[in-house]
Amino acid sequence: MYAPKTKKNIIVPVELGLDSTFTFTCTRDMPCFTRCCKNAHVILTPFDIIRMKHRLDMSSDEFLYKYTTLGHIDKTELPVPVIKMQEDGENTCPFLGDSGCSIYEDRPLTCRYYPIAAGIFHNKDLAANKRFFALIKEDYCLGHKFGREITVKEWRNTQGIIPYDKANIGWSELILKRKSLGPFVEISEKSLQIFFMACYNIDRFRRFVFDSLFLNIYVVPEERVKKISEDDSAMLDFAMDWLATVLLGEKKIEIRKQVDEVDVAEAI
Ligand code: SF4
Ligand code: SF4
Repeated sequence: MYAPKTKKNIIVPVELGLDSTFTFTCTRDMPCFTRCCKNAHVILTPFDIIRMKHRLDMSSDEFLYKYTTLGHIDKTELPVPVIKMQEDGENTCPFLGDSGCSIYEDRPLTCRYYPIAAGIFHNKDLAANKRFFALIKEDYCLGHKFGREITVKEWRNTQGIIPYDKANIGWSELILKRKSLGPFVEISEKSLQIFFMACYNIDRFRRFVFDSLFLNIYVVPEERVKKISEDDSAMLDFAMDWLATVLLGEKKIEIRKQVDEVDVAEAI
C-alpha cells in the first residue's frame, strides 16, 4: 500500500509476518513529529475514501476532486487516488494541522500502517491469499531509535487497521486477480473507468445503481437494495461483487433472465 517517493535504502528487505517484531514508537514530543506528513505518497483505498469523506462531510465526487490526484496500483494499469500534496515547497499533506493530523481518527490505511509496508499475494500452494509486510526506515524518522519492541499483529490492532483490511477485501482480491492475468491481458478504458467509479466514487456509483436501468437488469434482493441505499460500506461490498461480475465474469450478481448481453452493455 505504501509507495514512498524515493525507494533507495528505506524499505528493509526482510519479509515480516504477523508475529515478527520491530522496534518503534511515535509520539508528539519527538523532533520529527509530522515530518512523515510531508512529501509523502499516500494512496487511498476505497474504505479510506468512505471514512474521510464522512469526516469532512463531503460527497465522494467533491473529495476526489479537491484532495486527490491519480496514481496506479503497482504493476497494473488499475487507477488509484493519491492524496494531492500542497504546493507549499514542502509538499505538505492537506490534512496536516497545527497539532498533527487533523483527521487522525479517520486517517488513511497507509498512514496507519506506517512504518510498515503491507501487501497481499496469492499463494498458489495453499490456494489462498497471504499478507506480507516489510519495514520502512527513513532517515528522518526517529521512531526506530527510541521505540519498544512490538509485533506486526499488535501494530495492526493498535492502529485500527483490521476494520480497514476487512472492508477492502473485495478490492484487494480484484487487484490480485488482475495481477494474476499478467501484463499482456489488456483492460479497456471503459473497464478502468467503471473500476474507478465503483471502487472510489461511492456516491456516483450509488446514483448509477438507482438512477439508471441497473435494477431492471440485475437481481438484487429488496433487503440488499435498502441497505446499499443507506450504507456506504454495504454499497462498497455490492460494488465489489458487481465488478467481479462484469470484469471477471464471476456471476456474483445475477442478471435477470429476460435481459440479454446488449442491455447489460448499454447500461454500463
Ligand atoms: S516518529 Fe516517524 S512516524 Fe512518528 S512523527 Fe516522527 S517521522 Fe513520523
Ligand atoms: S492523512 Fe494525516 S497522517 Fe496521513 S499524511 Fe496526511 S496529515 Fe499525515
